[in-house]
Amino acid sequence: MSRKEEILKLIEEGYTTAKQLARHFNVSLMTIYRDLRELEEEGKIIRKHGNVELKKEEEIKESTCAVCGKNVDLRLGFIYMMRGGKKVQTCCAHCGLIAYRTLNKENIEMVMTRDFISSNPINAFMGSFVIGSSAAPCCQPSAFAFASREDAEKFAKGFGGYVSDFEEATVRMEELMKSGPKIKLSTKL
Ligand SMILES: [Zn+2]
Ligand SMILES: [Zn+2]
Repeated sequence: MSRKEEILKLIEEGYTTAKQLARHFNVSLMTIYRDLRELEEEGKIIRKHGNVELKKEEEIKESTCAVCGKNVDLRLGFIYMMRGGKKVQTCCAHCGLIAYRTLNKENIEMVMTRDFISSNPINAFMGSFVIGSSAAPCCQPSAFAFASREDAEKFAKGFGGYVSDFEEATVRMEELMKSGPKIKLSTKL
């Protein structure tokens, strides 16, 4: 049995902290943290207030948006992977861009979302966004993520909105939230 498998067994038996596990295996806390993080990424455990527990089925299905509380739509949402293994999920790119303004940037390790057309996972920082188009599957003003700028531009041709890179999209979203979708923004910030 691998150490990770053994860790799962021990958690099931009532171990709740990294310290207990490190003592049990006689390894460093760093080593245990690495195992726990991998287990968390595999969706087998969750970490809460410094304790570890096994992940239950409902908790996998029922994640809610960190910004507005709606159920997370895995096709549209953002997942922020934070240092220390915490995840911040949002229902759609609208809330994903808003969440960015509230998170400690230094603790963000990665932001994942999906290309609106192909549904392939993409690094949101590298994505192109269409903000404030007339299409609104979730929150408004709406935001859509695309892997390619070309797709974003095609989408904006059909549905309106502003094509922006990640940083610009967070600024535009904030502007639109303040001024309402009717105010015309200049095409270049
Ligand atoms: Zn939301
Ligand atoms: Zn939403």
